[in-house]
Amino acid sequence: MPAPGQVQFQQRMRFKAILKRRCPRCLRGQVFASAFRMRRNCGVCDRRFERQEPGYFVGALYFAYGLAVLLGAPPAACLWWHGFSMGVNALVITGELIILSPWIFQYSRILFLHLDQLFDPT
Ligand SMILES: [Zn+2]
Repeated sequence: MPAPGQVQFQQRMRFKAILKRRCPRCLRGQVFASAFRMRRNCGVCDRRFERQEPGYFVGALYFAYGLAVLLGAPPAACLWWHGFSMGVNALVITGELIILSPWIFQYSRILFLHLDQLFDPT
């Protein structure tokens, strides 16, 4: 069993790897080649990012939904608070989420990959 200080260090390293969108196994290799294109394998540890299961990344949709709500709710509440109509509110939030879609796409997959790595480290 690892020491408490070591666990905190590992959690900090994983958190940094998530923020930098790095490989869930080695925490160093880049996962994305461009905004909407993932690499097939990690360049450092050769971990295959998409497992051999159909619809592997469907679970990432839950993270994408959560991120969209986290990013869309505060401005929506602010616009509602200032008396803007629901049409304006929907237009602003839709535009915001379209602009942020590469970010949401990447982080939803990164979060899913890291969660999957914790439950199934093979
Ligand atoms: Zn790796």
